[in-house]
Amino acid sequence: MRLGHENAGTVVEVGDEVSTVDVGDSVLCHPVITCGVCRPCRLGEDMYCENVSFPGLTTDGGFAEYLRTGERSVIKLESIDPVEIAPHADAGITAYHAAKKAVDELVPGDACVVVGIGRLGHIGLQVLDAMSAADLVAVDIKDEPLELAEDCGADYAVNSSEDDVASVVDDLTDGEGVSQVLDFVGSDETTALGPDVLAPGGDHHVIGYGGHVHEPAQTLVDGEMSYRGTLVGTYPELQELVALVDDGAVELETSTYSLDEINTVAERLEHGEIEGRAVITP
Ligand SMILES: [Zn+2]
Repeated sequence: MRLGHENAGTVVEVGDEVSTVDVGDSVLCHPVITCGVCRPCRLGEDMYCENVSFPGLTTDGGFAEYLRTGERSVIKLESIDPVEIAPHADAGITAYHAAKKAVDELVPGDACVVVGIGRLGHIGLQVLDAMSAADLVAVDIKDEPLELAEDCGADYAVNSSEDDVASVVDDLTDGEGVSQVLDFVGSDETTALGPDVLAPGGDHHVIGYGGHVHEPAQTLVDGEMSYRGTLVGTYPELQELVALVDDGAVELETSTYSLDEINTVAERLEHGEIEGRAVITP
């Protein structure tokens, strides 16, 4: 099976029944192929489709000259270059899905903590900045991502290897705490932050999955806090993200490589030597 689960490109062939895209159209692919007729599909929950396939994970993906997908999965791009937007097909949509859930709960005057300003975190911050008036507190263990965070709309930046995040949040919010935490790391340490920084009724969104959640049940009861998981996002959410990219509200750093270079790129990725997102072109 060929890998490649973040896909965008130009339509080269369509089936007889396809009516929404034509040969030559630029498209961004939602990461899964859905059936459209099961109950989750009818509810708009693409990721819960009972007959789902996931190119790059369960069927041949996009690290090839051609990718086969379904009409329900493609979003026609009017003015955006597929090469520029490809990483939004999974990284971007996942960050957007989590940020949108947080935005639904955030009102002006609230604060939101974003943990881990990496490849997904810096997209999440830009989405929050575009869609919410809440104060954004970026947390990372290194200074360099925190500088990026400020460019992405963070109002405050906290280096958690130097400062105690809970104390800083306490000061910033006059002891009230934040309404939402977006955790792009999901380690034992970062999932422990929620109970320390959340106001009553708050949510800790788990997007990264590096470790475990270890909290006594009573912690969730006393503060009525929730841990909420995040699995990619829906087709309409990817359309919304494309609109944000089109408006210039969300920017992504990409570098382009040819398909011949894919093994070198994979090695460099493993060693943390790739800045931003590497896009492979056929
Ligand atoms: Zn379905």
